[in-house]
Amino acid sequence: MISQLLYPAAREVGVDGGRLHPPAFIGKVPLTLPSADVKCARARSMHCRLADRIRRSTKFAVVATLLLSTAAAAPGPTQFKPGFNLFTRQQDVQLGQEAAAEIRERVTIVHNPVLTAYVNSVTRRLTASREAKASGFTFTFQIVADPAMNAYALPGGPMFINTGLLREVANEAQFAGAIAHEMSHVILRHGTNQASKVDLIQIPVALAGQLTNSDTLVGQLAELGIGLGANSVLLKFNRIHESQADLMGAHIMAEAGYDPIQLARFFTNLNNQSGPSAVVFLSDHPNPGDRSKAIKEEAARLPHRAYGYQTGQFQAMKLAVATVHEPSPKTQE
Ligand SMILES: [Zn+2]
Repeated sequence: MISQLLYPAAREVGVDGGRLHPPAFIGKVPLTLPSADVKCARARSMHCRLADRIRRSTKFAVVATLLLSTAAAAPGPTQFKPGFNLFTRQQDVQLGQEAAAEIRERVTIVHNPVLTAYVNSVTRRLTASREAKASGFTFTFQIVADPAMNAYALPGGPMFINTGLLREVANEAQFAGAIAHEMSHVILRHGTNQASKVDLIQIPVALAGQLTNSDTLVGQLAELGIGLGANSVLLKFNRIHESQADLMGAHIMAEAGYDPIQLARFFTNLNNQSGPSAVVFLSDHPNPGDRSKAIKEEAARLPHRAYGYQTGQFQAMKLAVATVHEPSPKTQE
């Protein structure tokens, strides 16, 4: 807007046969440049020298603008940073560990060597990605015997993967995409970002350890209504969070060798399902709208890679997960 006000004819600057012919203004005084054919050879007046200088500087400005706009238009992945947060990163870790200990008491952890090896082999590649390592968080993964097609990641890195997710995913890349999406919520600290907004007065007090009725951070937050129950603010994300986790998840899985288009297909499949599994996942991870399209567009901005990595254990995982008895989920508080 400013440049338009100062230089109202700037848009008319153009390149014609390699020669620039901008109308030029200095302040509000129009300056008519001598034609390039006439040049200034006949009279090296101050007017002409000034006109030459303007012509050269304008040419430089146009070339620089073209270069800059080319750089701005160059494809590259979207960059994200964690948003507003009253918690320290260490408090993310503490909160996640305390909450994970509570969850382990409520659910049935699966100790199946085939499933554990499979999850480890996929997640090892995901946690080696640049954005995961740069976060400084340590990710841990445990399998829960639960038919709901879901996975949930707590602040600081503990993640629980339901057998229902392993049962339902169509291929390894979709599984990797779902996990990469969850990891992105951790990296971008969405859980504590959301918790930070609940009570701007009391939360800083709780985080400073001023509430003495409870010894744990998770207990202190529970006193403020920030719990881990069915409507936990730590695990239910908003659509902006979802959009960010989709795109960063695409980065992470791509770096691990999995085609990010499969994350788009994972969500498309979920949207097309009407069963309770899809409802659970989409309740925790609401569709930000045009989700598949946004993931595909982000995938196009990523560096070209050869996708198609496979552990080779997907079918063995499917056979193993079919043998797991899934008890009814323990009562959620
Ligand atoms: Zn999500």
